[in-house]
Amino acid sequence: MEFLTTPSQKFDLPKRISRLGELATNLWWSWHPEAFRLFGRLDYDLWERLNHNPIRLLNEVGQARLNQAANDKEYLEHYDEIFKGFDAYFTKESWSQKTHKSLKKPITYFSMEYGLHETLPIYSGGLGVLSGDHLKESSDLGLPFIAVGFMYAQGYFSQRITEDGWQEAVNNPLTFEHLPVTLVQKDGKPVTVSFDFPDRKLTAQIWEVRVGRVPLYLLDSNVESNNDYDRLLTARLYWSDLDRRVMQEVLLGIGGVRALRALGYDPAVWHMNEGHASFLTLERIREQVASGTAFTAAADKNRGQNVFTTHTPVPAGNDEFPLYLIDKYLSTYWGELGLTREQFIDVAKHNTPHGDMYSMPVLALKLSGGSNGVSELHGEVSRDMWKFLWEDRAVKDVPIQHVTNGVHTRNWMARRMNNLLEKHLGAAWYDNLDDHELMQKIDGIPDKELWGVHLHLKRKMAFYLTERVRDRWTRGGFHPVQVVASGVLINPYALTIGFARRFATYKRASLILSDVERLLELINRPNHPVQIIFAGKAHPADDPGKKLIQQVYRTVKKAETGGRIIFVEDYDMNLARYLVQGVDVWLNTPRRPYEASGTSGMKAAINGVPNFSVLDGWWCEAYNQKNGWSIGDDRKYESNEAQDAFDAENLYNTLEHQIIPKFYDRDPKEMSTAWVAFMKESMKTVIPQFSTRRMVKEYVQKFYIPALKK
Ligand SMILES: *Cc1c(COP(=O)(O)O)cnc(C)c1O
Repeated sequence: MEFLTTPSQKFDLPKRISRLGELATNLWWSWHPEAFRLFGRLDYDLWERLNHNPIRLLNEVGQARLNQAANDKEYLEHYDEIFKGFDAYFTKESWSQKTHKSLKKPITYFSMEYGLHETLPIYSGGLGVLSGDHLKESSDLGLPFIAVGFMYAQGYFSQRITEDGWQEAVNNPLTFEHLPVTLVQKDGKPVTVSFDFPDRKLTAQIWEVRVGRVPLYLLDSNVESNNDYDRLLTARLYWSDLDRRVMQEVLLGIGGVRALRALGYDPAVWHMNEGHASFLTLERIREQVASGTAFTAAADKNRGQNVFTTHTPVPAGNDEFPLYLIDKYLSTYWGELGLTREQFIDVAKHNTPHGDMYSMPVLALKLSGGSNGVSELHGEVSRDMWKFLWEDRAVKDVPIQHVTNGVHTRNWMARRMNNLLEKHLGAAWYDNLDDHELMQKIDGIPDKELWGVHLHLKRKMAFYLTERVRDRWTRGGFHPVQVVASGVLINPYALTIGFARRFATYKRASLILSDVERLLELINRPNHPVQIIFAGKAHPADDPGKKLIQQVYRTVKKAETGGRIIFVEDYDMNLARYLVQGVDVWLNTPRRPYEASGTSGMKAAINGVPNFSVLDGWWCEAYNQKNGWSIGDDRKYESNEAQDAFDAENLYNTLEHQIIPKFYDRDPKEMSTAWVAFMKESMKTVIPQFSTRRMVKEYVQKFYIPALKK
């Protein structure tokens, strides 16, 4: 395409291995573990220190090492193998080409955040990681997919915990030359899009990231023609002031459509991941109003191509704006739609106890032909929550379906686990990972081999955590008690429970600490030690979330824990990878039904780590009594306190009487056969069903193909 420029990154590489530069600037490498290793082999220590950044690695590893690699027979064999795979990836016939020839025009996906890799910190949590996994899978399946988001100049914050457990946010400006991003230019000038606010023009430039075959376009308002306030608009994720939030969403929805048009695209499907991008529906209508169609006719015409995915099961969690902000930023826009102020507001009006609000999900729901929640239970909750928009219908007929989330298998499964499956299920297992029948073969893997891979991953995690503490301690400003709290006393053979996710109060991180006495007695039994690893960030403006971290941290620091309860700072995709692959049990304790889906438990399960969770979100669908354990009951409670008390009691009982005994029920070979059976059942049930492979195919069948026909 004429707009694409060569990447801005420059490499000085020996000719024989010069394509490493090409590999470094397409995130394809990040979900192909052998390609990941090709970079690591150049210098493992530097690779770790650079947080797995191949662009920096190639620039900093030194000419001598590069020359050596270019003459190293083994390295070159590995190199040739990778590029054979890389080239085949782009040329072989894809699932989409084989089975859905009608999918030719682009499907476009809008999201506020993308979790693609730890070096590109433009995500805050699960929503972003889901978007990132969606792109990787769409690329694997060969869908004509394009995505739109923001290039956040400072990225998401790094987390520091003070000695007293208070979260501090450190904002690091990103160095774009170190990132796999390319400024989109035409005739030597950046391509820009703009939007006219009543008093000024907002302009943004566009960066492109290659995610396998999928281009991701990221808007960036840091351009000279904007005022200082506007230049900072895309500096960070989720500004907490609503003024910036509404501006960001105008830029994403309206600016995003304009960006795709400027690049010459004519998408056939417009998928909004959460309500932040809902303004795109209006911009598409405006295009048609400009050529003479009336608003209602244009809305009816476009509706069929809009797909909306909601992720929020509580009314308060949804994005909505006070009307004065709509006046402030959009008062010249409704005229372009041929609407009065009242008509414009009416489209998205949500009547709340504190007055009428402009609701982004209402806007999307009213203007989309297909809408969905992200698990079966969340679909139900959503239909109930939004039924007021369809007063003439029964709740079950409210047009919100569900597509349960999934995770990108190769992105989250350990390389060794992948190799083990390849050995026992055949080289083509990955192409057929959503085949339930094939996954039954996991039963045939010798227990010893699976347990061996797991032990390796567990030791690897323990080693990583201690190295991380060493590094943190060496850099200074870290109290000795924090060294213990960060896991320096970790025992790679003790039963280890992982709990890592955003610290939002509904996730109840402290549920397992409700009765500290009882917990300490349980985890400190000689011969049956238990460890608990916590990690996670709270949104910088979320004081209750930060207090929850503090509460956890204060318990973690107690000497009586024996260093067995741990809090690891600065949760990100890299730490997530070590934890979901290396712990023995994955814990999740949301207050039902607030966890729309949850995905970290799926990442754990595909690595043979059983879940121990509240029957909420995805776990409600996956749990079969043989692949993990439940917490609490699938019923409603009279109060939050009653629910917490019941769930905590249930959690301790299951831990004490089922999980710990099963884990330590060792045979003479120091392995628990009953435990390995749970590991296998986790993999068999979760790999085929809770993968993005199944998820993206389901979006194609339920939404993308029908949209083409409307
Ligand atoms: C997977 C993931 C999440 C989402 O975890 P949930 O269990 O769904 O809350 C959040 N953050 C990171 C870094 C992740 O990798």
